[in-house]
Amino acid sequence: MKHLLMTPGPTYVTDRVRQAMTKPIINPDIDSSFFDFYKDLTEKLQKIMHTRHEVLILDGEGILGLEAACASLIEPGDRVLVISNGIFGQGFGDFVTMYGGTPVYLSKDFREPVTGEDLKDFLDKDHDFKCATLVHCETPSGLINPVEDLCPLLKSYGILSIVDAVSSIGGMEVLADAWSIDVLLGGSQKCLSAPPGLTFLSLSSEAKLKMSERKTPIPGFYANLTIWDGWYEKKWFPYTQPISDLYGFSEALDIYLEDTKTIQRHKEIADYVRERLVKMGVCLYPKSGFSNTVTAFHVPDGYTDKEFLEKLLIKYNIMLTGAFGPLSGKLIRIGHMGENCRYDIIKMTLDAIESIL
Ligand SMILES: *Cc1c(COP(=O)(O)O)cnc(C)c1O
Repeated sequence: MKHLLMTPGPTYVTDRVRQAMTKPIINPDIDSSFFDFYKDLTEKLQKIMHTRHEVLILDGEGILGLEAACASLIEPGDRVLVISNGIFGQGFGDFVTMYGGTPVYLSKDFREPVTGEDLKDFLDKDHDFKCATLVHCETPSGLINPVEDLCPLLKSYGILSIVDAVSSIGGMEVLADAWSIDVLLGGSQKCLSAPPGLTFLSLSSEAKLKMSERKTPIPGFYANLTIWDGWYEKKWFPYTQPISDLYGFSEALDIYLEDTKTIQRHKEIADYVRERLVKMGVCLYPKSGFSNTVTAFHVPDGYTDKEFLEKLLIKYNIMLTGAFGPLSGKLIRIGHMGENCRYDIIKMTLDAIESIL
């Protein structure tokens, strides 16, 4: 191994997954077996996301899913509630604007979750929204928002929810249907430990209805989710599917589904990471709402983030990462998700941090 990659995505990809990607190519546009392979893949994802809704897999990284959800649902004149207490939450507002919507922000300090109480107070005063965007796990800050409280509340006001759970699906429980999530977004390279390049999402029938009731056509093709309508019945894909990526992804999902203790392991390892860091005197970034998939802490005194990361890499051969945007230079982050969520390598990482300190 070149170095131990302990970043919050991409995560370590096993040999089994990499070998699956070398399978011979068939023509996915005309080979009937491919449609059933793809359907089977969506059914595995339905299990992981706890949903009976339609699932699609798009050929592009997580960001494509975020953009496609906004492009397909939002049209000029729509007011959209943007729940923002992190970099991804804030960034949703840009997509809303790009597709002609008007973002209205419910903003909170980046170090604390937006609670059901916060949302309730907000909606009491203003609830005229077609949909809301929110982030389950804010990867740049290691913060979790209580989607299980927020989405049912939105639903009770008739507001559709678009939830970015790219860095939590597979590492923490995300119950799409039980939590009333209309569009749930995930990515291949975080907790499911496949290579980057795929995004997947579940779509409620209400979300699909809203797309069909638009007054204006969806601008664009690749980010238009309605082009997938009836793909299985028609045996027709809107574009040639990335077959090798999908073979790898399918293998990664099999590996994931073989282990029934994954969510529990993420919890135990996250507890261990936080406990050890706190014992070392390190200051965790969130004040509450800690993620079980990624931990962010303040750059230790006497170092810049670059110096600290470089020392870890050169002396211990471990790659961690800093943060970006408004948090740039302030934080160090450990990804303990997917295949990175193994006690031996996490211990090695924490031992190295401790030695430096
Ligand atoms: C990783 C991630 C994405 C996708 O971003 P990429 O830059 O394409 O990897 C989206 N949202 C969240 C919360 C993520 O962690």
